[in-house]
Amino acid sequence: MKAKLAFFDFTGCEGCQLEVLNFETELVELLNHVDIVNFREAKTESEDNYEIAFVEGSITRESEIPKLKKIRQQAKIVVALGACACLGGVNCLKNFRPMKENLRIVYGDAAKYYDTIPARPISSIVPVDYYVHGCPIDKKEFLKVTKALLLGKRPEIPNYPVCVECKLAGNVCTFDKGETCLGPVTRAGCNAICISNGRHCWGCRGPVDDPNTNSEKEILQKHGLTVEDILNQFRIFNGYLEVSK
Ligand code: SF4
Ligand code: SF4
Ligand code: SF4
Repeated sequence: MKAKLAFFDFTGCEGCQLEVLNFETELVELLNHVDIVNFREAKTESEDNYEIAFVEGSITRESEIPKLKKIRQQAKIVVALGACACLGGVNCLKNFRPMKENLRIVYGDAAKYYDTIPARPISSIVPVDYYVHGCPIDKKEFLKVTKALLLGKRPEIPNYPVCVECKLAGNVCTFDKGETCLGPVTRAGCNAICISNGRHCWGCRGPVDDPNTNSEKEILQKHGLTVEDILNQFRIFNGYLEVSK
């Protein structure tokens, strides 16, 4: 019997689902082992009988809450797919402004026809079993997690900071270039891709389980910076953590 997989999306850009589709060769191989019964971005037909649900996007409207609860009721395993679902992600930037103001800015005179609530990760509504981090997700990590689940194993996700992979990649630390970086407190697994390509870490994979915030503070202090100096960067993906403290 093939396992039945389903993909669902709430509020997000759907880039994480696109990454799954971008797999092409590996996806065809995966289809030898699973049936994908629900995937709006890829197929029209759908059914409500599935074991593993991959959920993309954060929750930003009341109407999304019962839909997510129904998915949780049906699925044996729920996997949050991408920063929006795992952390709340970029959608949480709106949480720093009154909701009415957000509606007015986006919809103008038509604002009264729409509803919005503070954005949140799916784990704030239902229990989540596993996470595929990133904005967007890393295709290989998605495959690794899916394979582990099909084999009945617990997926191993890095729980150490991006700095480890950054140093292994031989990068010059962005702090030494006069910039900031969230690498010391952010979960690795992306091979420090942003730093290796001339940028810094924005924290899209979320914090490690036990972030060494003292170390980040020390690094900031050493370079004449404060936590407030990097708060705006932290908010880009992790704003929910800040407002829900
Ligand atoms: S995590 Fe990023 S790529 Fe994925 S849905 Fe959200 S905004 Fe899009
Ligand atoms: S702070 Fe950023 S740039 Fe510096 S080592 Fe860590 S991840 Fe790399
Ligand atoms: S370096 Fe940071 S921002 Fe870039 S992909 Fe990795 S975790 Fe995300």
